Amino acid sequence: MGLVVQKYGGSSVADAEGIKRVAKRIVDAKKNGHQVVVVVSAMGDTTDELIDLAEQVSPIPAGREFDMLLTAGERISMALLAMAIKNLGHEAQSFTGSQAGVITDSVHNKARIIDVTPGRIRTALDEGNIAIVAGFQGVSQDKKDITTLGRGGSDTTAVALAAALDAEVCEIYTDVDGVFTADPRVVKKARKIDWISFEDMLELASSGSKVLLHRCVEYARRYNIPIHVRSSFSGLQGTWVSNEPRGDRKVEQAIISGVAHDTSEAKITVVGVPDKPGEAAAIFRTIADNEINIDMVVQNVSAASTGLTDISFTLPKAEGRKAIDALEKQKALIGFESLRYDDQIAKISLVGAGMKTNPGVTAGFFQALADAGVNIELISTSEIRISVVTRADDVNEAVRAVHTAFGLDSDSDEAVVYGGTGR
Ligand code: ASP
Ligand code: MG
Repeated sequence: MGLVVQKYGGSSVADAEGIKRVAKRIVDAKKNGHQVVVVVSAMGDTTDELIDLAEQVSPIPAGREFDMLLTAGERISMALLAMAIKNLGHEAQSFTGSQAGVITDSVHNKARIIDVTPGRIRTALDEGNIAIVAGFQGVSQDKKDITTLGRGGSDTTAVALAAALDAEVCEIYTDVDGVFTADPRVVKKARKIDWISFEDMLELASSGSKVLLHRCVEYARRYNIPIHVRSSFSGLQGTWVSNEPRGDRKVEQAIISGVAHDTSEAKITVVGVPDKPGEAAAIFRTIADNEINIDMVVQNVSAASTGLTDISFTLPKAEGRKAIDALEKQKALIGFESLRYDDQIAKISLVGAGMKTNPGVTAGFFQALADAGVNIELISTSEIRISVVTRADDVNEAVRAVHTAFGLDSDSDEAVVYGGTGR
C-alpha cells in the first residue's frame, strides 16, 4: 500500500471534538495499510485572530515577526492532533514546516516553496509513525527565517509534500463534499463534480472558485499529483482533480465544468485616451510598476471625431486606491481625460474544455444572462473560459441562471456545507 498525504483545513479541526474526529479518520487510513502524512491548518479562525492581534500592536507589522506569529496557529493544531492520535493507540509525531524540510524563498507573508527535503518525515514513517506537518509555513533558504506561504497555503504544503514523497494521492479534506459546478452557498442545486482536469480546475480557481487555491493546483499539475478533494465530515467520495479520469466510474469530460464567480475585483476606466501607439503601454506600465496584477482589459473603438478612446480594466479591490493614485500622478504624461472607479462589479465565468469544440457556448451564456435581465459590461475569453463583468447586485441570480441554462442543476439539493468557512 502506498503513501497518502491528507490535508485538513481549519474548519475540520475547529475544536477538540473536530481534532478527535479527524484523528479517527487518519488512524483508519493507517489501518488500511497506508503510510500517512497529514498536513494541518490552524484551528478555525485562529489565523484571522492572530492577524487582528498583530494589527492592534502595530499597524504594519514586520514581515518576519508576522510570519513567526502566524505559524503558531498551525503548531497548536499539529501538536493536538498528534496527541489525539496517540490517544487512539497509534504513533504520531508532529513537525513544523521547517523540520519537514519545506524550503522557501525569503518573501515574508507570501513565500514560494523552492525545495522540499523531507528526510525527517521519511524517517518518522519508516519507524511506523504517522507524520503530522504544520501547513502554510517553511523556512527561507538564505536567512533561515520562518516564512508563510500566503492565506490558504496549507493546500500547497500538502501537494508539495506529496510530490517530494512520491505519494499516491493528496487528499484535501474540507467542509464541502468536493468541487461543485458552482458555489454551493449560492446555487442550492450545484452538483458535485466526480472528476475534473487540472486545466479546468486552474481556470475555476483563477475565476473565483475558492475550494482549491490556484497555486496548489498549479503545483499538482507540474508534478502530476492527483488531488482528491473531499469532506472530513462525511464518508463520501469527493472530486478527483488529475490529468486523466480516475476511480471506478467511467467519467467523461464534461462540456462545461462549472460556473465561478468573483466579487473581489473593481473596474477602472481610463476615459479619453489619445488613440495612438504607446498609450496602453504607458497606462499598464504605471500599474505594473506598482506591482498591481490586473485581470480583464477592454479598449473601445475611438470616436472618429475626437480620436480619443476609453480603456477599462479590472483589478483586486484591495489595490484600487493604489492604482488610482498612481495613474493620477501620470495623468499629464499619459494624456487621458479622467478616471472612473467602480467597485460594485462581479465577474461570472463559465469554464470547460468542451467549449473548444462546441459552438454556441458563448451564445448560450449571453442568452442566459439576457433572459435573467443581466447586463454585460465587459467580456473576456480564453480557449476554455468565458468571463463577463456585471453589476455586483446581479451576481447570484446570474450564476443560477447560467447554471440552469447549461443543464448543470442536480435533481436533489445535494450540496451540503458542513463547516462555514469553506476551507
Ligand atoms: N491557516 C492559514 C490560513 O488560514 C493557512 C491555511 O488555512 O491553509 O490562511
Ligand atoms: Mg485556514
